[in-house]
Amino acid sequence: MDLESANDTLCPGDTVARSKPETDIEQHVLGTKVKLSDGTDALVFSRTPRNKDLLFGYSCHICGVVCLYGERMLQIHIAGRKHQARLNVTVFDAEQYRASLVAKPKRKLIFFFCDDIEKMD
Ligand SMILES: [Zn+2]
Repeated sequence: MDLESANDTLCPGDTVARSKPETDIEQHVLGTKVKLSDGTDALVFSRTPRNKDLLFGYSCHICGVVCLYGERMLQIHIAGRKHQARLNVTVFDAEQYRASLVAKPKRKLIFFFCDDIEKMD
C-alpha cells in the first residue's frame, strides 16, 4: 500500500524533490540569488514540474536558459563557462532578467536555447 502511493506521487507534473540529487539542488542551488539593477534580489534558477521522463525542468534566468532537464544538466550548465562568466557580473539588468522569466518554454525556443548552449560552451 505504501509503495503504491509512493509510485502515484512520482508522475509528470509532480513538484516535490525526492531523490538525493533533487534535494541537494533544492537546498544548495535553487536559493542562489543575484542583485538586479533596480536594487532587488532575484533567484538565479527556477524549477518546473516533472516532465514525462519524470525529470524536473530548470531555468537559469541570468543566462536565459530554459531547457535544463534533470539535475545533471543543471550541474553541467552551472559548471559551464557561460554561466560562470555571468556569475562574475555583480549587478544584473532587471529588465533583462524579467524578460527571461516571461519567456514561455515553447518547443522551438527550447531547441534554439539548447543549440545556443552547445555553441557557447
Ligand atoms: Zn546560467
